[in-house]
Amino acid sequence: MIFKRKKMKRKVLIKKDVVKSILSYCQMKHPNEGILILKGRSKQGEIKIDGLVIPPFNYAGPTFAGFPHSFLPFDMSYVGVVHSHPSGSAEPSVTDLHNFFGLVSLIVQTPYNDDCIFAWDSSGKPVPLSIIDES
Ligand SMILES: [Zn+2]
Repeated sequence: MIFKRKKMKRKVLIKKDVVKSILSYCQMKHPNEGILILKGRSKQGEIKIDGLVIPPFNYAGPTFAGFPHSFLPFDMSYVGVVHSHPSGSAEPSVTDLHNFFGLVSLIVQTPYNDDCIFAWDSSGKPVPLSIIDES
């Protein structure tokens, strides 16, 4: 039966070097928001992020960051986006949820360290995130 699908418990695994790149990119963009596309794979609810892409024509200010989705090539390895919140919490804003892209949205808050990165699903619910150390 097509509609009988177990509800997957989603989780996000992200490589340590990817986290490092995200954090330094966000630091560089500060006090503006930074935005990056997450590359990876999704299998049975487990989203593994192993790369980043700088979105074409991205625009950003202190309270917004985005890019025109129409310029993106269709690529199944794009699992979501990460952006920073230079001020305030890592909770997704209404705008963030309206512009949700992919499977997961990562938000980084200041001061941009390993504990400042959070994952959210399209309804704004937190998704458990673990940083993995592998090559
Ligand atoms: Zn935001």
